[in-house]
Formats: sequence, structure tokens, C-alpha cells
Amino acid sequence: MTADLSEAFSFPPQPDPDADSRGFWAATAEGRLAMCRCQSCGLWLQPPLERCRVCAGPTEFEDVAGTGTVYTFIVQRQAAVAGYLDKVPYVVGLIELDEQLGLRLPGRIVGVEPGEVVCGLRVQAELVDLPGGEYRVPVFRPLGAE
Ligand SMILES: [Zn+2]
Repeated sequence: MTADLSEAFSFPPQPDPDADSRGFWAATAEGRLAMCRCQSCGLWLQPPLERCRVCAGPTEFEDVAGTGTVYTFIVQRQAAVAGYLDKVPYVVGLIELDEQLGLRLPGRIVGVEPGEVVCGLRVQAELVDLPGGEYRVPVFRPLGAE
């Protein structure tokens, strides 16, 4: 049996949901961005955990607004990730969501030239299809940009 490696390497890596992250991917599939939150003390947890790291309370995924600020970012200039080989340069940011200081989610920053991205830039999440599978992933677009 021969595998078609050219196809295998033409798509980005796919998520591999586990017990802790399944709720995140279930939400994105329904068009929602949701993060793990303690049901006892209200703390948002990223990465998601079965139990709160502060009070050991149970956690659930709750919707977030998807707005936040660019905490930090890189400009990817080398074609290194399958599915994005022809997309360089592009920006990958770590976005601090408005719900809680330190609640950060990585994602591509779209709709802006790489040289115009700065820390503190206000952004809004949107969900896009991840090529090569069934998943949707958040990307972030500057607020007010089309
Ligand atoms: Zn808690």
C-alpha cells in the first residue's frame, strides 16, 4: 500500500481533541468560541482542565465574546507549516481575551498587513474552516477592519 504523501502534507496539522479540549472543538463546530471556566469560582482556565487549578471546582466550557488584544505575536516568513506554504508572511498572535487578564488564545491575525500588527491591537475572533478536515479554528481580525 502506498500513501499519497503529497496530500498528507498539503493540509495543516489537525486537532486531536482529548477529554479536556473536546468542549472547545465542539463549540467551534457550532460556530461558537468557548473557553473552559470553573463553575465554582468563575476562573477561566486555558489550557482547559477537568478541575479548577485554584479551587478544584468542576469546569465547563462557556462562550466568550471573542474580543481581546494582541498580547504578543510573530511574523511567520518561512514556509514551514503544511497548508500555509504559499501564505507567508502571515502573523500568529497570542490574544488576551477580554474576559480575564492572562486568558490567552493563539491564532492567526488576518485582515492586516504583518507590519501593522502591534501589541495591544484590538481584535475580534472569527471562525474559519481548517483545510483538510472537519474542524473550525479561530482567527483574529482587527476590530473595525473588514
Ligand atoms: Zn475555581
